[in-house]
Amino acid sequence: MFLCSYKNLSVTRVGVRNDPGPQWGARFDLDQDLRPLFPYVNGQFSGAKLRDQPERIQFVLDGVGCTLYNTEVVAAPFGDQKQAQRFVDRIVATLNELYERRDSLRPSYRKAKELPVLALYRLLPKTNCRECGLPSCLAFAGALSRGATSPDRCRGISNPLSHHAVYPVYDRDGNLASTLEIELPLPPDKQGGTPPLTAGGVTGISLTPREIEVLRLLARGATNPQISAALAVSRHTVKSHVTHILDKLGVQDRTAAAVWASRQNLA
Ligand code: SF4
Repeated sequence: MFLCSYKNLSVTRVGVRNDPGPQWGARFDLDQDLRPLFPYVNGQFSGAKLRDQPERIQFVLDGVGCTLYNTEVVAAPFGDQKQAQRFVDRIVATLNELYERRDSLRPSYRKAKELPVLALYRLLPKTNCRECGLPSCLAFAGALSRGATSPDRCRGISNPLSHHAVYPVYDRDGNLASTLEIELPLPPDKQGGTPPLTAGGVTGISLTPREIEVLRLLARGATNPQISAALAVSRHTVKSHVTHILDKLGVQDRTAAAVWASRQNLA
């Protein structure tokens, strides 16, 4: 067995400004160095992001965003504390299984691309107000590009970006350790002009507005033909959307996607 136990488990509230529903995040330490597993996680989990500074890998397991560091794991969001605690055993078992199967797996050392700093900077209000805790908008753009901060830290972009969609996860010292984001449709007065910030390179999950519509219906129990009729698109298109949604969420089936949607208040 590679990982036998964990320690220093903490389960704390996470969430965005104006988010009325509590969400929970978990973090814990391991005695072993997780870095030898990173290439296997990278190779096995669709959408996994291997990053430097600090060295870490982000991926989605059963609809939960996970980040592995050297000897530390953070994961979110969860609907309650018990769910978070149960998930800790799930992730340890998954990592052990990967370790045991590593000789039959293909490792991937490909690093996630960072978003261009100047492209991010152009999306910011450029007031240099420092509300985000960084000395300037350019510094904030640099931190976003590295995945070292969360979009909701800037009040100027959090409203059009998120609506329950960005979940910062903090470590026990109160530092941001990870974020999980989905892209929701912008309100009409926010559409056009400035393009929405996508999740790629910054956070874990980015669903298009159409995929979110499909996911909402799927989570309410609609079949593909019913979704096709409701959205006036072909069944083939619905099937394609569902395939993309499962892939992006890193889940195996519609039930797991529906559970994920319910956790995000999308159902
Ligand atoms: S809070 Fe937003 S506008 Fe203010 S300095 Fe930070 S990035 Fe710039």
